[in-house]
Amino acid sequence: MLTIGSHVGFNKNTQLLGSLEEALSYEANTFMFYTGAPQNTGRSPIDDTLTKQAFDKMKENKMDPSKVIVHAPYIINLCNEENFDFSVNFLTEEVKRVNQLGIQYLVLHPGSHVGLGIEKGIQHIIEGLNLVFSSVKENQVTILLETMAGKGSEVGSKLEEIKTILEGVKDQSHIGVCLDTCHLNDSGYDMSDFDSFLEEFDKIIGIDKIGCIHINDSKNPRESHKDRHENIGFGTIGFDSLIKIIYHKKLEEVPKILETPYVEKEYAPYKQEIEMIREKEFNPKLIEKIKGY
Ligand code: FE
Ligand code: FE
Ligand code: ZN
Repeated sequence: MLTIGSHVGFNKNTQLLGSLEEALSYEANTFMFYTGAPQNTGRSPIDDTLTKQAFDKMKENKMDPSKVIVHAPYIINLCNEENFDFSVNFLTEEVKRVNQLGIQYLVLHPGSHVGLGIEKGIQHIIEGLNLVFSSVKENQVTILLETMAGKGSEVGSKLEEIKTILEGVKDQSHIGVCLDTCHLNDSGYDMSDFDSFLEEFDKIIGIDKIGCIHINDSKNPRESHKDRHENIGFGTIGFDSLIKIIYHKKLEEVPKILETPYVEKEYAPYKQEIEMIREKEFNPKLIEKIKGY
């Protein structure tokens, strides 16, 4: 069965329950959220009562909680020496929060080396991840390293870099990968020939390591290293290629998450995009539909 949703908000008063309700309003059967604002460290305590209500409601709606995803905030950068201690501490707290929420997957950007060089950056990420895992007791959370577009000094835009990080992590059972179709396109991988990409991925890393896929079209051509997401079917990857990825037999069990932009910064596109994906037919008038014309 197709498991598809989008990123949704997380409000300190409604927490997981509010995020779930937003996802249900898009007729999604999974979702991804940040445990607070993606750009800052303000985090409120998890309310276990709201979490329990959310899990009951997921059950009512036949939603599998093991396919729900948390995304770590962007300010975590394990690569950089300056922010290293802060990032390790914050990620440790985040992993504890995700454990408390009963969520299985936490997506993390590997980070940016900011002039330090890829190799040193990778060594810091490995060291940081090992520190995090060793300081969380009874950890149930799998950290998924996201494939990046290669903007600026981002680490993780090549599968070989992700592979090196994965190999350095001691706790092999709690580390995996999150693919992002926009990032893969922008870093240079050909999303129109996804079978070849998956074959390459399987040789280098192993398909079983894929825990989540971010489904985004891209505003920019392949290898542009830009990272600007576009609505499904309106970008350079295109509807047909994205549909092939979404319905790929080998990735059937993997949750798919849309992180496409709001239309005119105002209208969430997810309900209409999910509907279009389920129908497997591109609607060139989708943007008008989202705006409610
Ligand atoms: Fe991301
Ligand atoms: Fe992403
Ligand atoms: Zn992105």
